Amino acid sequence: MQKIIAANWKMYKTRAQAAQSAASLAAGLRTVPAERCVLVFAPFTCLDVVAQAFAQNPALACGGQDCYPADEGAFTGEISPAMLLDCGATWALTGHSERRHILGEDDALVARKTIFALEKGLNVMLCIGEKLEEREAGNLSAVLERQIHSVFEAMPEGQSLDGRFAVAYEPVWAIGTGKVAGHAEVLEAHAVVRTLLQGVLGNAAERLPILYGGSVKPANAAGILALDNVDGLLVGGASLDAQSFLQIVGV
Ligand code: PEP
Repeated sequence: MQKIIAANWKMYKTRAQAAQSAASLAAGLRTVPAERCVLVFAPFTCLDVVAQAFAQNPALACGGQDCYPADEGAFTGEISPAMLLDCGATWALTGHSERRHILGEDDALVARKTIFALEKGLNVMLCIGEKLEEREAGNLSAVLERQIHSVFEAMPEGQSLDGRFAVAYEPVWAIGTGKVAGHAEVLEAHAVVRTLLQGVLGNAAERLPILYGGSVKPANAAGILALDNVDGLLVGGASLDAQSFLQIVGV
């Protein structure tokens, strides 16, 4: 399976800074190894700039960090899937831990966003992951099951997911903390996610990429990427600097 290396720029970068970073990535990734696909989840205000910089290279794509589940309407401050597509984005993140735990999104809203974005033609990366207290209470599997099932219970029959859907396992305690999950913890969680996906999708689950995210850096990226059931990386802080992200992509 092609490995996806994804950057999450969070709420960083002006349009000029985004243009500079995207140009550096496009230059550094002129020959992306065939087994890699590179995504940048940029702030809404920079998406057109990033999409333009990536336009000549089919191995590079950009996405929104969120989207609202409606075509249009009185939803002040929100951005629809159609608006993302209009800016040149082809992906959306849903359920990022900062949206779940800082902005208060629950499983039901994450499910609505995921399904609506897929229906409207975006590819979706669904983020899931447990808080430290949930892990310490022995609830890792139960949390991942709840987060995955809430999406699949609401998914219409026959929704095509091949090449359009990925899951990012991001333990909340590892995001932005510098505390990367150990290899044994990544292996355990990714095996749980694969089994849960098999339960809802059968054999098709083998083709769904499962990414790891949480304090990935150039020094630890290759080791995590080589683990069973790790089909890519979602990188926050270390993706803000183009050279550091290029090292993680492995070029
Ligand atoms: C993220 O924002 O999804 C993330 C994993 O952040 P960091 O790499 O900084 O932990």
